[in-house]
Amino acid sequence: MTDQVLTTVNGAPVADDSNSISAGERGSLTFDNFRMMEKLAHFNRERIPERVVHARGSGAYGVFELSRDLSDYTIADFLRGAGKTTEVFLRFSTVGGGQDSSDYARDPRGFAVKFYTQQGNWDMVGNNTPVFFIRDPIKFPDFVHSQKKNPQTNLPDPAAMYEFWANHPQSLHQMTILMSDRGIPYSHRHMNGYSSHTLSFWNAAGQRFWVKWHFKTNQGIKTLTDADAAGLPPFGAQQDLVDAIDRGEFPSWTANVQIMTEEEAESYSVNPFDLTKIWPHSDFPLIEIGQLTLNRNVENYFAETEQAAFSPSNLVPGIGASPDKVLQARLFAYPDAHRYRVGANHHQLPVNAPRCPVNHYQRDGAMAGTACPFSHSDNQGSAVNFYPNDRQSAGAPVPDSSVAEPPMPILEDAWIKAYDSSADDNFSQAGDLYRLMSEDQKNQLINNIAGGLSQAEASVRQRMLAQFAKADADYADRVQNALERANQVDNDYRRSA
Ligand code: NDP
Repeated sequence: MTDQVLTTVNGAPVADDSNSISAGERGSLTFDNFRMMEKLAHFNRERIPERVVHARGSGAYGVFELSRDLSDYTIADFLRGAGKTTEVFLRFSTVGGGQDSSDYARDPRGFAVKFYTQQGNWDMVGNNTPVFFIRDPIKFPDFVHSQKKNPQTNLPDPAAMYEFWANHPQSLHQMTILMSDRGIPYSHRHMNGYSSHTLSFWNAAGQRFWVKWHFKTNQGIKTLTDADAAGLPPFGAQQDLVDAIDRGEFPSWTANVQIMTEEEAESYSVNPFDLTKIWPHSDFPLIEIGQLTLNRNVENYFAETEQAAFSPSNLVPGIGASPDKVLQARLFAYPDAHRYRVGANHHQLPVNAPRCPVNHYQRDGAMAGTACPFSHSDNQGSAVNFYPNDRQSAGAPVPDSSVAEPPMPILEDAWIKAYDSSADDNFSQAGDLYRLMSEDQKNQLINNIAGGLSQAEASVRQRMLAQFAKADADYADRVQNALERANQVDNDYRRSA
């Protein structure tokens, strides 16, 4: 027998939560059913807008342990002093499908990590792929529309997907990864995570370094074919993560960075800020820096995983952005999405709140003063709300110039105009990937491509074949043969029908 009394949201005890107040057995309900109305009105508002991308997610808490002191490269507090530990929250997701889709779509996976450092939260809002489909953010809405459901039928539309890719050779590298065996991870635990973008470090001497992050799974890479995935329950990856953590089988990743100096960036043959390109390991070897381990499931999916708000603009002293054009756009677009979805004060929610003091002059807005154990829960009370002010002796916060980022260099003769990158090398690295695949991986890649591409228009197929040929002649030959086989099967089927 519990001694907890059921209450309304204003804390008053509830006498009866099962029966509405009614004008007799056969009569209508009355207007003083405010308890019933409160329940229904709140129920109507249980959902916040679904993320347009990365809607379907799984999250867990854990710890990042630094194994290599990085003071030479960065002033970031959590990266100085081997052995230091930092709490993290990691949200995995598929990208294209809505909340109602499957965990096992052939789709990149989001790999977003919030590091709750003592100098504020750093979010690495990455994916399980080291590159992305586009290098210019102006294409993002068109790209996503082409990969989601058909606007008329509300069905998957492979022809539209390939139509976008045929018109954008810059997608070939990422498309090759997506159609490879890695396109459907066996679980969230069995895949790598990458910053994909080039980020930066800067140190106490004011030197900047360009950095790519790689989280390599310690569970080993494990993948599924389309046929394997078709037989699995849509929520299987969520179940796998929750169960593994509940069993005490804590999934972990080895954290590595690739580091490029500013001088190397000036002369390197590949644009280091192009999101469709990797830095070859032979030129920029992985440097192991620590372990990331997940060890705690969320208590409440909506409050934590659904309301988690990651943004590449959540940076800390010693970690900066880079001229990567897609990253630059995400610095705006991600916090904008969270202000719309969760609200102007999304950063006050416990999952998003820093674990260090927060002092600023922003005030008010919807839900200001959300109760949070780590942050202000009183909208900063009576503290002064403008800057500059004359109240430093009373504890009013002031900027700290010692954490100023060194000036960002402009790396070329500057001009301002629409930058058309369509003539860049879109093919070499896709070819490098194809050539490192085993025979089995190549077969999976070719069959996966042929399945979707065979449904596209002839002109789309021709443009895609031309792209494959520029990456590797064998890549194109095999896709061509697979398309002919698919066509033959299709013709045989039509003849027999
Ligand atoms: P390396 O041989 O040094 O590295 C190859 C990388 O490819 C490994 O990190 C491996 O990851 C990864 N890989 C293997 N199969 C696949 C696949 N089907 N999809 C995605 N990644 C895969 O070569 P380079 O550094 O010279 O790069 C060659 C190509 O490898 C690149 O063009 C790129 O497509 C791919 N790649 C490169 C990465 C990089 O940062 N250099 C990162 C990931 C991919 P793992 O160790 O987990 O098996």
